[in-house]
Amino acid sequence: MSALIKTESLSVQYAEDGTAALQNINLSVAEGEILALVGESGSGKTTLLKTLAALLEPTKGTVHFDGKPLPPPSRRLVPGHPDIRMVFQDFSLSANMTVFENIWHVLRAYEREYRQERTEELLARCRLSGLEDHAIQTLSGGEKQRVALARALAEEPRLLLMDEPFGQLDSILKQQLKFELAEFLQESSSTVVMVTHEPKDALGIADTIAVLQNGELQQVASPKQVYKQPQTPYVAQLFGTVAIFPTDFWQNYQSQTKTTLGKLGIRAEQVQVVSSGKPELNGKGSESAVRLPGTVAYLNYQGHYQEVAVRLANEELLTAFYSGNGLAAGQTVELLINPADLIPLSE
Ligand code: ADP
Ligand code: MG
Repeated sequence: MSALIKTESLSVQYAEDGTAALQNINLSVAEGEILALVGESGSGKTTLLKTLAALLEPTKGTVHFDGKPLPPPSRRLVPGHPDIRMVFQDFSLSANMTVFENIWHVLRAYEREYRQERTEELLARCRLSGLEDHAIQTLSGGEKQRVALARALAEEPRLLLMDEPFGQLDSILKQQLKFELAEFLQESSSTVVMVTHEPKDALGIADTIAVLQNGELQQVASPKQVYKQPQTPYVAQLFGTVAIFPTDFWQNYQSQTKTTLGKLGIRAEQVQVVSSGKPELNGKGSESAVRLPGTVAYLNYQGHYQEVAVRLANEELLTAFYSGNGLAAGQTVELLINPADLIPLSE
């Protein structure tokens, strides 16, 4: 697939003497791809999104859209690009207009008949039919998001940019909306770059995940890859519970553990907790397993499983997920780990 939008050595620095908000970003989004931009608050996500929207001028580097350089905002009368639309974190709706008027207004350049037809089409597509005459203030967070989406999609942009689409929503609504949005985006075959500071939200929606840390891209890969083969401790920790120790720690327990990298991590769900003295539930391959003795430091009830923090001989804590019964704090246990599940991590 060819790249719809592509950055090369892109850097953004807000103040001349300040640190760079983005550094040397090389990112490419293919036509039809859904890319999620993930990183902590302040990592540069919004800055990158605005640069892709041609709302912010890069300090260095280039952005190409559909094979052509994206005109910087300083060279345009109206900042932005007609084929690129952004849904802002606060949705940027006109509060004094109804749902219908909010969409109608975006289409003001078109003739009346098309405008009417397109507004109705967008209302239906974004499941807003029946809410036409409602004032924006009376809408729920999810409904406001759908109006923002309808506005962004009104002129059929080739690239849709969304900043923290779930940022304004509480958790029950968010669960429902995540599925709705995923379904909507997948059906629409649009090219989407969406920002989230909640890594788990990205795993289920995106084709590709780009992880930003302090303005630099850490890894760009599929959801499966960032989860199973994270390259750095930061990426590993972002997507799930993981215990990370230097390679020589693991080699003390399993001499065959080899890697050229400095650290190895293990996901909490890959650790088998066995009460000392009890036969293992699942003995398969246990001859080669790494066996770590320890003491249960605390248990954290999570509904269908428990987080078990085990204090190891070196005083470090290792977290395992445990779905059985009968563990208690203070109990001695053995942790079984398949060496194949250890994740090599570079700094
Ligand atoms: P994120 O969206 O990941 O939270 P931002 O892109 O908003 O991060 O910000 C990245 C960095 O750039 C932060 O350190 C932030 O303080 C800084 N920054 C963002 N916008 C501006 C601005 N308009 N002027 C100066 N610094 C800014
Ligand atoms: Mg932001």
